[in-house]
Amino acid sequence: MISTQTEDSLEKISSEVVSCRKCRLCETRKKAVPGEGSSKARLMFVGEAPGEQEDIQGRPFVGAAGKLLTELLASINLRREEVYITNIAKCRPPNNRPPRKDEVAACSPYLERQIALIHPSVICPMGNSAIHALVNSDDPVTDVHGIPFEVGGMTYFPLYHPAAALYTFSLREVMLEDFRKLRALLDSAVD
Ligand code: URA
Ligand code: SF4
Repeated sequence: MISTQTEDSLEKISSEVVSCRKCRLCETRKKAVPGEGSSKARLMFVGEAPGEQEDIQGRPFVGAAGKLLTELLASINLRREEVYITNIAKCRPPNNRPPRKDEVAACSPYLERQIALIHPSVICPMGNSAIHALVNSDDPVTDVHGIPFEVGGMTYFPLYHPAAALYTFSLREVMLEDFRKLRALLDSAVD
C-alpha cells in the first residue's frame, strides 16, 4: 500500500527547527538549536533556551552550564551521546531573557514530537522555565528538585538548572546528590 504519510524522525524535526520562523526569536537567533543525543535515550534533559555559545554552534549546552551538565552526567557514568539534550525554546532569546509564553507555545510541538519519538523512561526538566512548561506546575525548583513524579504515564525528575550552580557554588553538591538519586531511579525503572 502506498502511504502518503511520511514517518516523523528526529532528523526531520531538526531540519524543520533550523529553518523555523514560527515566533519572533527567529529574527535574532544566529543558529536554532534542535537538540542532540541518542534516539534510544532513556533519559532526556530539557533546559530553557540556547545561550550565546549554543546560538553560535547550533548545539545545546555547550557553554559553561553545558560543561557542568557533562560533568554531572559523568558522575553517574553517562555520556552525552547516551542521553538526549534539548530545550523548551530552540532559539536564543535576546540578552538571554527567559522565553515568553507565546514563544514557548510556538516551539513546544517540536519538543512534544521529540518526546514521542524517543519515548524516554525519565524526563528531567532543568530549572523553573522547563518545569513550568513541561508539567504545567508553578512549584519552584527549590521545592521539587530531586523528587520523581508521574504525569500522564511519564516520569519526570526535576533538576536545578546547571547555570544556577555556576552562581551558587553550594548547589553543586545538591545537584550531585540529585544525579545519584536519578541514577537509582533509572536503575529501578522498567521500560
Ligand atoms: N542554558 C539552557 O537552558 N540551554 C542551553 O542549551 C544552554 C544553556
Ligand atoms: Fe521556531 Fe522555536 Fe525558534 Fe520560535 S524558538 S523560531 S518556534 S524553533
